Amino acid sequence: MDHGLRRTALAARLDDLGVDALLITSLPNLRYLTGFTGSSGALVLGAGEGLFLTDGRYGEQSRREVEGLERVIANVGLSEPIAQAAARLGARRLGVEADHLTLAAHARLRAAAGAIETIPVDGAVEHHRRVKDPEELAAIERAQQATDDAFEEVLERMAVGVSEQQVAGLLEQSLRRDGGDALAFPSVVAFGENAAEPHHQPGHRLLEEGDVVKLDFGALRDGYHADMTRTVAFGAPAAELRKIHDVVREAQQAGIDAVRAGVPAGEVDAAARGVIETAGFGERFTHGLGHGVGLEIHEAPWLRAGLDEPLPAGAVVTVEPGIYVPALGGVRIEDMVEVTDEGCRVLGASTRELIEL
Ligand code: ZN
Ligand code: ZN
Repeated sequence: MDHGLRRTALAARLDDLGVDALLITSLPNLRYLTGFTGSSGALVLGAGEGLFLTDGRYGEQSRREVEGLERVIANVGLSEPIAQAAARLGARRLGVEADHLTLAAHARLRAAAGAIETIPVDGAVEHHRRVKDPEELAAIERAQQATDDAFEEVLERMAVGVSEQQVAGLLEQSLRRDGGDALAFPSVVAFGENAAEPHHQPGHRLLEEGDVVKLDFGALRDGYHADMTRTVAFGAPAAELRKIHDVVREAQQAGIDAVRAGVPAGEVDAAARGVIETAGFGERFTHGLGHGVGLEIHEAPWLRAGLDEPLPAGAVVTVEPGIYVPALGGVRIEDMVEVTDEGCRVLGASTRELIEL
């Protein structure tokens, strides 16, 4: 992974952003630009060079991980060293990440920065992160592989009387055993009527014959996330839920078919949403169609109604329509796809047809 090339690409945009240096403190952005995986650090990036700053806990780790940048190891807070680094780079206007820097951190930085102006900048690194390079794609695919394998394993463990919490535990064990480093996010495990909540937290509800089982989960691998949802039936489902699964399945396919580089994100949402509206469930699809996935589980680009930003080739986005009916249950089907010039490539290998256990 060439972090230096990524820094060069970002540095080339400093003029457009109206700054002469950029302070990066968001950890996913810092990892993207430097390879640093610790919990505290900063990058001050100027047009020609940059400085990496961290504290004494990460001296050794950053020596191993961060290449091509002078490193500054600070022992009492990073505000002063950041201000000094910006001054060394000759910055008069220092961009800060408006979405990540807290008011308190900004106040400390202001106190140290003197005549250097701080300028809020929105989503500059996130914009670059939308497009995945081959190594990032490979990491996402490893995470997806573990996710598909864990899904298969956990289906074999479904039995009357198992709880949502137990299934969540089984998923985590499988994800790690199958090559994940950790969970990408806390798993959603919802039985029966609980599936009507899009992001139900697993509780102590026990599995019964006739329940739907909604599983939204994924592995984290080498810093990259996977995200997949499947809704399966345990025993014969209610006729209404079987119908809902058909509609969601068709909506997801319409969304997948609409994905192509250059297509406005909102059009993809509309393609899937149209299927659900036509079937009379428009009010029951209560969230956006999808989101980018990478170093964060939710990141740009977003697939939401009305967004006209065109999807770039190389983005990885989820397509995840759902229908949720209180007291009855719900169905969501979610896969990550890689956006290409011709359309897209579905990364998940698990069947999207209704599985009846
Ligand atoms: Zn998900
Ligand atoms: Zn998702």
